[in-house]
Amino acid sequence: MSFIKFLGTAGARFVVSKQLRASGGAWLSVGKTNLYIDPGPGALVRCLNSKPKLEPSTLDGILLTHKHLDHSGDVNIMIEAMTEGGFKKRGILFAPGDALEDDPVVLKYVRSYVDKVEVLKENSEYRIGEIQFSTAQKHQHRVETYGLNFKISPRTISLITDTKFFPELPSLYRGEILIIHVVRLKPIGDDPIDHLSIEDVKTIIKKAKPKLTILTHFGMTMIKAKPWVIAADLEKEVGVKVIAASDGMKLDLEVATES
Ligand SMILES: [Zn+2]
Repeated sequence: MSFIKFLGTAGARFVVSKQLRASGGAWLSVGKTNLYIDPGPGALVRCLNSKPKLEPSTLDGILLTHKHLDHSGDVNIMIEAMTEGGFKKRGILFAPGDALEDDPVVLKYVRSYVDKVEVLKENSEYRIGEIQFSTAQKHQHRVETYGLNFKISPRTISLITDTKFFPELPSLYRGEILIIHVVRLKPIGDDPIDHLSIEDVKTIIKKAKPKLTILTHFGMTMIKAKPWVIAADLEKEVGVKVIAASDGMKLDLEVATES
């Protein structure tokens, strides 16, 4: 079974540091290939406590969309767990250059545990086992950040990670399933971190027309407004299926867009 499981739906510093939602990122499984996306704080614990348990030593790779801590806090321990303490050299680490170079989040000694480190760049194609994906142009975020388009069977998935809204954004992510990191309920002009709001999500859905949209990575204003209420209102307004991810939610990719 191909699936994506959300091991955390927290976004930005407050919700993550208080653990109002978990912050473990997501596990993507396609056929026999397992890829971990954005192992934020608690990723390892969330994997092992998952029911059924997700075993890190079955991972084929780990990917960071960017180096902010809510996306990368557990990257080192997840690499160690994937490689059974570093004794079984295996797997691929995908990360933007700045997560590896200046002020890196991936420790140098841990990098020798993986088979390969692939540096993410703009508009590039990558493959790991049965998972094929590409990056689009760089996001507008304080650090080097990439969204992803997964060309996988049976469903294409787009993942819009942290970014400030920019006009080209909707046309870059055309997957049948759109996973979108929406930190804010309302836009604020002086957001120092550059995140999306529900207004931005509306604009994106209307243009990109995904079959299913999944909201995740919630900041405080989203949590207070109850993400499932926001998702239901949004669905009514835009006329396509919208759901709010919850911690531990597993989406079966075979049936995800059927209704
Ligand atoms: Zn970020």
